[in-house]
Amino acid sequence: MKTQTFERMESNVRTYSRSFPVVFTKAQNARLTDENGREYIDFLAGAGTLNYGHNNPHLKQAMIDYLSTDGVVHGLDMWTAAKRDYLETLENVIFKPRGLDYKVHLPGPTGTNAVEAAIRLARVAKGRHNIVTFTNGFHGVTMGALATTGNRKFREATGGIPTQGASFLPYDGYMGEHADTLDYFEKLLKDNSGGLDIPAGVIVETVQGEGGINVAGIEWLKRLEAICRDYDILLIVDDIQAGCGRTGKFFSFEHAGITPDIVTNSKSLSGFGLPFAHVLMRPELDKWKPGQYNGTFRGFNLAMVTATAALKKYWANDTFERDVQRKARIVEERFQKLATLLTENGIPATERGRGLMRGIDVVSGDIADKITSKAFENGLIIETSGPEGEVVKCLCPLTITDEDLLEALDILETSVTSVVNG
Ligand code: PLP
Repeated sequence: MKTQTFERMESNVRTYSRSFPVVFTKAQNARLTDENGREYIDFLAGAGTLNYGHNNPHLKQAMIDYLSTDGVVHGLDMWTAAKRDYLETLENVIFKPRGLDYKVHLPGPTGTNAVEAAIRLARVAKGRHNIVTFTNGFHGVTMGALATTGNRKFREATGGIPTQGASFLPYDGYMGEHADTLDYFEKLLKDNSGGLDIPAGVIVETVQGEGGINVAGIEWLKRLEAICRDYDILLIVDDIQAGCGRTGKFFSFEHAGITPDIVTNSKSLSGFGLPFAHVLMRPELDKWKPGQYNGTFRGFNLAMVTATAALKKYWANDTFERDVQRKARIVEERFQKLATLLTENGIPATERGRGLMRGIDVVSGDIADKITSKAFENGLIIETSGPEGEVVKCLCPLTITDEDLLEALDILETSVTSVVNG
């Protein structure tokens, strides 16, 4: 395979191509094909961007139809029929059945754009600067979002410029399973000498994706919402990775029955891998002045077309979400077995997750790497997450067929077994 071009021309900053050093040519649902014709099952799925699979035929058809009528592709944030269709579908298919009332801000198309917009909105709306964020949180790498991102590797890459405006608190479970880390938050809020500037907002992932599939408990999330209400702090749920069905509901916070003031979505929002993000806000928080937060690529119409098609196809009733939950149970059971196998062979391992956002924590980044490298040799693309890369993480397309799902789990089992056997 000819890879010299990439090595010669691409910056060192590249990442995933180091784990999977082949040249891909084609992709369909959960399968990727390289230029030698070898197929791989994709448990990475664009780091959670391809919840509806590669080249989803329904979404592809919607895009082809739109392009073939010369639909507007780029229109800054001008009104288009595609945008109206998207907003109306979001309202009818997602908001109304869930009793939600949000205004929609279309910022630049990446996750970090949405997070920048969300935390700035919280500051503008509350007239306070501080944002509370949590240990192991990952919210993006532009300066504002980076300030809320825990991982030192990213934080050290600012050329020495300090990140500002965020305070870190321990996420659920960070202090061990018996400590309620929100006791600490509440104490700091009550204590005039605790040193915490009363925040404008709290940003949280209900399941931390990059941070290692750390799952916030339902009671913890409910209490976090209650604290935010008590102290007039905005609750921002960053649903960029956990949203769009990944945990088995459209929004990951639905499991806890909470209603964030602000929500960010990106990654799987377009459904087709096209760049697209939105920030949802309670209507009274919409304190933006016209054009105060802008960007050339706001509301990519083609992405709105596929996003609309995805909402209509998968979210008009609960068939899809029930199917995701069914597949999640299969993965959970198999991951538990693998964790037991590892533990019995001297590698302490635990399984965790919500819905199809699941991982096996093997404690050591080296062991996790060995498992994922073996898996790749055996035809499965799967990545790690967590502070040391110690969690083998499943982000398979939610639309994966049962055959591919079972084959991928078998490949993972073979790979774990060969690592265990040295
Ligand atoms: N927020 C969360 C929860 C994420 O998982 C990510 C990316 O992994 C981001 C924000 C940043 O998104 P992007 O990489 O599109 O900037």
